[in-house]
Amino acid sequence: MEQFEKLGLCEHVLKTISAKKFKKPSEVQEKAIPLILEGKDVIAGSATGSGKTLAFSSGIVKYTEKGTGVRGLILTPTRELAEQVAGAMSELSYYKGLEVVPIYGGMSMNNQIKKLTYADVVVATPGRLLDHLQRNSVNLSKVKFLVLDEADRMWDMGFKDDVAKIVKACPKDRQTLLFSATINSELEDFSEKHMKNPVEVSVESYVDASKLKQIYYDVRDDEKFSLLVHLLNNEKAHLVMIFCNTRRNTDFVAKNLNDAGISAQAIHGGMEQNKRSRIMKGFDDSRVNVLVCTDVAGRGLDISGVSHVYNYDLPLDAKDYIHRIGRTARAGAEGIAINILASRDYNNFMNIQKNNENLFIERVMTPQFKKIYVKFDSPRRPRGNFSGRNESRGGNFPRKNVGHGRTHRNSSRNRH
Ligand code: AMP
Repeated sequence: MEQFEKLGLCEHVLKTISAKKFKKPSEVQEKAIPLILEGKDVIAGSATGSGKTLAFSSGIVKYTEKGTGVRGLILTPTRELAEQVAGAMSELSYYKGLEVVPIYGGMSMNNQIKKLTYADVVVATPGRLLDHLQRNSVNLSKVKFLVLDEADRMWDMGFKDDVAKIVKACPKDRQTLLFSATINSELEDFSEKHMKNPVEVSVESYVDASKLKQIYYDVRDDEKFSLLVHLLNNEKAHLVMIFCNTRRNTDFVAKNLNDAGISAQAIHGGMEQNKRSRIMKGFDDSRVNVLVCTDVAGRGLDISGVSHVYNYDLPLDAKDYIHRIGRTARAGAEGIAINILASRDYNNFMNIQKNNENLFIERVMTPQFKKIYVKFDSPRRPRGNFSGRNESRGGNFPRKNVGHGRTHRNSSRNRH
């Protein structure tokens, strides 16, 4: 606790930290909290799992008086992240009694309008918050703290203009904190325009290489699913996340795993929020221990105890690979990332290795496994890698092209 006290955190936050039995501050907390509490604008390189929520909440909880309007505004790229951050902030501000309100699409507008009348802190996705601004159902004129969480992802998802409009509705006299796994030139432009002498804080990779093992198997395109089933049946796992590049693949894998007797749930941006929340609850309660997801759905989910991350498809973006494997080997636990590679994944795999030179992904012998026959829902078999709709997020937002739908000539009719 002493190390947390030294950072200058208020007693309310310290009480929560003590209740949560955190032993020492994470790197981003150690570096960013003193600056934030001094009132500096901060740009922090960090990602999910780094402890960034506590870092950016520290100033908001310390300096916000209850019932004085919306003082803290946190923008997040996804609904899941908004919900997760709002939950964490409610805990951190529990002893101060702040009202933390999550605002995102897919939920009742009226209910949100009611809550916005007494919110102290709003955690929002840009699209829905902009709807509220246009209806005058939110007042941002009292905002003292503006946080952009996972800013790179927000830009990737096409929220740049929405964010700019929201920033304009906030007072100039505010503190701005930008958290992002990567800082590109567009984010630099943003910081030049909207931040005051920001201090940059960078942290080491959040993947603990000593705890995380990364391996890959080479298989034929039509053997991927069979190997996946074999590994799931033979590896001793606690919670498993399987990543696919598209919504269609996610549904395909989850459905066929269930048919193969493995209880799995798909989660992706095309689902209603209530359904996603229900799925997450089942996963939290360990009723289901295999979650099949896309990058968008997987990112931001705060799930502890993931022992295995599978890449059923290798992501096109090398950053997504780091985010995926960062879901395991967290908080000192061990984890393994298993890549199932077929010819259609090689380009992406090479790109990932090129962009992350210090990754060590070991090739392992492919074991003997039983062929599994798979079923497709659609009348027409998806091409090559079953790259249906590219996953980006639900709604009418610009999509980043993450697909690589090459047809593989040797793929067989009904094996996968
Ligand atoms: P975040 O990166 O903010 O999403 O935090 C990731 C997870 O780490 C959450 O479950 C936090 O409760 C947890 N956490 C945050 N700070 C610490 C810490 N100093 N020690 C241990 N766990 C932490």
